[in-house]
Amino acid sequence: MTLLDRPVPPTAVADIAGMVAGARTAVTAGRCKPLAWRHDTLRRLRTLLVAHEPALLAALAADLGKAPTEAWATEIGFCLTEIDQAIAHLDTWARPERVATPVALAPASSHVVREPLGLVCVIAPWNYPVQLLLAPVIAAIAAGNGVVAKPSEVAPASAVAAAAVLDDLADPAIVTVQGGVAETTELLAQRFDHVFYTGNGIVGRIVSRAAAEHLTPVTLELGGKSPAVVTAKAKLDVAARRIAWGKFVNAGQTCIAPDYVLVERAVHDDLVRAIVAAVREMYGPDPRTSADYGRIVAPHHVSRLAGLLRDGTVVCGGEVDADARYIAPTVLTDVSLDSRVMADEIFGPILPVIAVDSLSEALVVVNAHDKPLALYVFSEDDAEVERVVGATSSGGVTVNGTLFHVANPNLPFGGVGASGSGAYHGRWGFETFSHRRALHTRSTRVDPALLYPPYTAAKEKLVRRGFTLPDPRELPARLRSRLRNR
Ligand code: NAD
Repeated sequence: MTLLDRPVPPTAVADIAGMVAGARTAVTAGRCKPLAWRHDTLRRLRTLLVAHEPALLAALAADLGKAPTEAWATEIGFCLTEIDQAIAHLDTWARPERVATPVALAPASSHVVREPLGLVCVIAPWNYPVQLLLAPVIAAIAAGNGVVAKPSEVAPASAVAAAAVLDDLADPAIVTVQGGVAETTELLAQRFDHVFYTGNGIVGRIVSRAAAEHLTPVTLELGGKSPAVVTAKAKLDVAARRIAWGKFVNAGQTCIAPDYVLVERAVHDDLVRAIVAAVREMYGPDPRTSADYGRIVAPHHVSRLAGLLRDGTVVCGGEVDADARYIAPTVLTDVSLDSRVMADEIFGPILPVIAVDSLSEALVVVNAHDKPLALYVFSEDDAEVERVVGATSSGGVTVNGTLFHVANPNLPFGGVGASGSGAYHGRWGFETFSHRRALHTRSTRVDPALLYPPYTAAKEKLVRRGFTLPDPRELPARLRSRLRNR
């Protein structure tokens, strides 16, 4: 029996409320707030992640045919970096941040204090089933929260393996729930202090509605059609390799994969030739036999994607083997903007390459779609790059590359508009799972009667002046020293 033949044992729906209540009790008792708990839990999670590596790699191979190198880099290594980043910076991130106090409020001090939200819920999808479950959990722990985590039932082996890492923490504030729609629906009926959902926009709306019942804030990490714009001034061979890699890694099942390419007509044929050559270089003449090329997660996705192959001319690839969940890395040309392949996110190894007459036309096409999760522009001309970035909106951008903005933990990762709201990675994840509490401390050395009734014309004059005067620390240095010396 392979890992795939083993369905995920779902959590009994009747048990879910009790499990959430148990985690809530631990959180309410103050278990997760101390920095010592956060450091210790993250360190233990790191050790467990390393110890579970063989099981995780086997599960990722079973569900998605992920090659070990790719699986380690995009799933396990990614999470280790997030843990290391959090451990290294947690104390600084959590330190109260002093901010300026206007003169009218003096003498006083003001701070922003990052507090844990409480108990948060993380709901993950199947395409990077380890990273997308654990990375938000890492951020939530760093920010001092308890977590209820639900992996995706669509990648069953990975769901079991990723949850095992968290279960082995044996921490009462960290709980995993397995299952599909019924279990997630019951989970969403519970009260959380934040819901962090990664997946498609239709379920994103369901999650938002359920969270609204409890006035719970949500982070939505959704998808969309992320375009790659290639101008005649691009380095075509480099662009082709980077587009091919970004598209066909994980067999195209990457939320920020370049969904389609818009290329200036003059270089269209050269770019297509270079992408086809790059695919051959990476996966050989028959990608089915390449140990580095992945598989489609489930049969219904294979048939959905197979249907899209008719929407253009197949320049390379096009082979489908439903039993093996295999679709070859495919490049499509002669694709109409009105076709189905250009309507919804493709989320598979099919790359439409569409010629445009000008950069302006490319921008019209990009802006006719919802705001995407990622945007890629390839050009050696800075003015062209600035124009594309300035005239569009997207969750993130990589210039002259694909996917890489996701790998820098100093950059926020998230969508905008239909591609999501909120962000995480590194400090941004810590912020997502923290409440920024305003702390204003007034001195009792003096108690100016300025704001107390009875109001007078003189008081009003002072009030009006006082509230428009800035904090002394915001004045230019010269003026500050003159004021000090008066
Ligand atoms: P999925 O089917 O695994 O669903 C995600 C989660 O939602 C699962 O845990 C599932 O159990 C739950 N779910 C499904 N139906 C539900 C329902 N009716 N009610 C409550 N919960 C439900 O994953 P998916 O949605 O197919 O994921 C693919 C999508 O996710 C793509 O659009 C992709 O772009 C997007 N995505 C976004 C990111 C990101 O970081 N922004 C990352 C990966 C994937």
